[in-house]
Amino acid sequence: MIIPVRCFSCGKLIAHVYDLYEEALKKGEDSEEAFERLGIKRWCCRRMIVSHINLIDDLLKFPRLQ
Ligand SMILES: [Zn+2]
Repeated sequence: MIIPVRCFSCGKLIAHVYDLYEEALKKGEDSEEAFERLGIKRWCCRRMIVSHINLIDDLLKFPRLQ
């Protein structure tokens, strides 16, 4: 739905990195390089960003959730 603010495992702040990561991938940057540049070192934090699917815009089309 919305990217969680903190990593579920270690508690590091990750929400501010998600958009920057998506932009880096669109520009053709390698995923590993983007994570290193953005300061996301641990696998637990990386899996939060890699496995996230942004569904909020799709769900807001349904009136019950507004
Ligand atoms: Zn983590």
